[in-house]
Amino acid sequence: MAVIGTPVVEGVGRIAGFVNAYVFREGSDTYLIDTTMNKNANPVRKAFDKAGVSLSSVGTILLTHAHVDHIRGAHAVEQASHAGVACHEVDAPAVDGRSPLRMPPVMRWFLRVRPVAVGRSLHDGDTIGPFRVVYAPGHTMGEVAFYHPGRRILFSGDSVVERKGKLTLPAAGFAADLPKAVSSLDILRKLQVDTLLPGHGVPVTRDVAPMLDELIRRAPRDYLRA
Ligand SMILES: [Zn+2]
Ligand SMILES: [Zn+2]
Repeated sequence: MAVIGTPVVEGVGRIAGFVNAYVFREGSDTYLIDTTMNKNANPVRKAFDKAGVSLSSVGTILLTHAHVDHIRGAHAVEQASHAGVACHEVDAPAVDGRSPLRMPPVMRWFLRVRPVAVGRSLHDGDTIGPFRVVYAPGHTMGEVAFYHPGRRILFSGDSVVERKGKLTLPAAGFAADLPKAVSSLDILRKLQVDTLLPGHGVPVTRDVAPMLDELIRRAPRDYLRA
């Protein structure tokens, strides 16, 4: 089956930009993990076009958390594919429009985000397709990572991101609860991960555990200093 986006590991394609979206394909199933900040999801459309695969083949849209850069394209992909949308229960109201999306006021003026119905609200430990839902709150209170135990793949969203060859947390100002975001790193560390696919930065395909350890060591100093 064709990889959609830039190939990372078997079945995984990255749609790179300021924020990453990923396409995961296994068997006859196609999952889109996050949807880019483009309201028409154009980077996603382009990746599918280039692979010669119809966007309608997306069966499930997995959202790591309700931030505009990850979810703004969801409406357009859902319209084109009728895929089911899934995100954590806590972030669902911000995705489906029941509550306002948390973002800097200045962005609210020029970024219109169309709500999209959430077909499935997720909880820690849920199984969705081949993935286990790993609740890793802090960046948002509904932040989740999607873990594929068989393949040891982790789509980490913004629970941990990559920058300049290191794992890091996203800018502290965007965190709903920074101490929680720091303690959620321990949850991620318990997983066996060979391939880490972050919401920002480049995928990490080796040394995930030591890189996470390094972040966990410096996180209290870097993020929690009073
Ligand atoms: Zn975010
Ligand atoms: Zn982000």
